[in-house]
Amino acid sequence: MKKRNIFVTTALPYANGPFHIGHITEYILADIWVRHQRMAGNNVNFVGADDTHGAPMMIAAEKKGVTPQEFVAEIRAGRKQYLDGFHVKFDWWYTTDSKENVELSQDIYRKLKAAGLIYTQDITQYYDTKKGMFLADRYIKGKCPRCGAEDQYGDSCEVCGSVYRPTDLVNPYSVLTGTTPELRHSTHYFFKLSDPKAIEFLRDWTTGNGADGKPRLQPEVLAKDQEWLGAGAELEDWDISRDAPYFGIPIPDAPGKYFYVWLDAPVGYLASLKSYFDHLGRDFWKFLDDPSTEQIHFIGKDIIYFHTLFWPAMLHFAGKPYRVPDHVYAHGFVTVGGQKMSKSRGTGISPLKYLELKMDPEWLRYYLAAKLSSRVEDIDFTKQDFFSRVNSDLIGKYVNIASRSAGFIAKRFGGRVVDDAMNDPLLEKLRGAAPQVIGFYEDRDYAKAMRLVMELADETNEYIDREKPWELAKQEGAGEQLHRVCSVSLEAFRILTTYLKPVLPGIASQVEEFLNCGELTWDTVGTPLTSEHEIRPFKHLMQRVDMEKQLDQLVPDVKPEPKPVLPGNEAIAPECTIDDFGKIDLRIAKVVDCEAVEGSRKLLKFTLDLGEEKTRTVFSGIKSSYADPKSLVGKLIVLVANLAPRKMRFGLSEGMVLSAADADQKKTPGFFLIEPFEGAKPGMRIH
Ligand SMILES: [Zn+2]
Repeated sequence: MKKRNIFVTTALPYANGPFHIGHITEYILADIWVRHQRMAGNNVNFVGADDTHGAPMMIAAEKKGVTPQEFVAEIRAGRKQYLDGFHVKFDWWYTTDSKENVELSQDIYRKLKAAGLIYTQDITQYYDTKKGMFLADRYIKGKCPRCGAEDQYGDSCEVCGSVYRPTDLVNPYSVLTGTTPELRHSTHYFFKLSDPKAIEFLRDWTTGNGADGKPRLQPEVLAKDQEWLGAGAELEDWDISRDAPYFGIPIPDAPGKYFYVWLDAPVGYLASLKSYFDHLGRDFWKFLDDPSTEQIHFIGKDIIYFHTLFWPAMLHFAGKPYRVPDHVYAHGFVTVGGQKMSKSRGTGISPLKYLELKMDPEWLRYYLAAKLSSRVEDIDFTKQDFFSRVNSDLIGKYVNIASRSAGFIAKRFGGRVVDDAMNDPLLEKLRGAAPQVIGFYEDRDYAKAMRLVMELADETNEYIDREKPWELAKQEGAGEQLHRVCSVSLEAFRILTTYLKPVLPGIASQVEEFLNCGELTWDTVGTPLTSEHEIRPFKHLMQRVDMEKQLDQLVPDVKPEPKPVLPGNEAIAPECTIDDFGKIDLRIAKVVDCEAVEGSRKLLKFTLDLGEEKTRTVFSGIKSSYADPKSLVGKLIVLVANLAPRKMRFGLSEGMVLSAADADQKKTPGFFLIEPFEGAKPGMRIH
């Protein structure tokens, strides 16, 4: 079999804080896969890096009174203890704030420009005059234009879930200085993702196969992409520039303009690999250009858009020797007891605390492996489940096999096994499972691999229970049978250890030492222990542990969230009087016309008849729910008719259209217009 040349990355963590359990889970997921590839004899280059650029880094550093470089360096210095602590073995860990990344990002940009995919456009954006910088959405707050909640961010309201532009906010202010920002013009650089050739390429790429002949994307990811790329869908062009001051990579021939951090972050994968290859004296460009090279990215499900649209399009149109990814593998989030991690509510698991509590990293690796599949599913951590999988499965089933047989071999048989026990039917069965186990690892179906290995461990334990070596040891003349049973058990243990090695590298290395059998690989499954090698005295690998106290410290019990008052999850607003209500003039309006607003992802433009002399124009951010706005023409809806008119980027909005929506738009997306019963007429007031 030809050896594969694989380049593997995990998503780059933003260098503004330590790793959380989501990072560690992704690294373990990828690390298991990489270790499996190495056991198959393939060449793997497994690299990571810190994602360092952007306004948040600049501001965090400023707050601390250090330079962004110093800020990042401190975070980077803390990475090793986590990676070593959980046996995550990257070949190279680098940073996006590097000369390689400048070189590669600028090179890719120049090639995209030459391909006609870069253009400039003037945009209007809020500017903080005190701070002297343009404000990203997250640095602007104000009153929600929809529900009136105070202190909402510039892109969406946490109270009513509506999404809007920062310019829609009422009484906007800068989060950085508290001052009222000013609208200013700036020239931005755009990557033309909407170009028909980009869309055509992406339709092709997303549905294609990797070098291994398997579909490039998981079915869930492909389905998401097809929503974005489907017939009639439009991709928005991508704003890739930011104005100075910005901690980032300068755009060539564009003074004062920097690449948006999301442009240079994925290029950081290549920059890290290049730095690694330079260090080894290998030719990076030759490796990229080699048709046998495979490029594989592991990512979280929240960054699918970037990794399956922007990133392959950038690479494809930059042209050779850049190559498009063979696979992008997405995974779900880690929940704890069914709840999303939240710092403020104290939920979630701190990986550092896990290590500080001296919990064995391989417990967590095994636990995660037992739950990870090739699907994009969330992984729920519960204390009881963790406790039982580690104690009952890992220790009770697997480690126990060695404890039950190794002592006899050492004490009674000089550390030698019987050669003719090595073709026992049990062992043949265990060896025969190799293609299945390897296939599960290859497909990242670790949970299936763990289940199969534990079934084989069960069979081995049943064999030991049947043969009762502890009784044979007391019987006269049963020495030969005892020797045979313990030899079979120990060889079974060797095979099972091989099967678990990608997940349990620490234990596997202790077992290789103790069995004195050399390195365990997929090739050595069929190479049994022999009487020529002396097995070394057995030390306990892992003991059944009472880890309840540690678990309680690691995962404090958290009170469940208060139950919502209504079926929806938005609490009822504070009491108001009939006079309060009377201030709001709600009217029946007839939709005369309705169209999508060009240049806006969210807005519909309504022309409404209220029985007044003139029709009114009203903008509403409900486009996502009404793909065919013309179907609304002729319908009656409800309008807040006395709301102060609002100047918007696309015109004056003279009122607010009422619609129902769940506060949690992720759970139940959609806006539902309110329609009166038959008989209502335009202009009627609602009492
Ligand atoms: Zn709101």
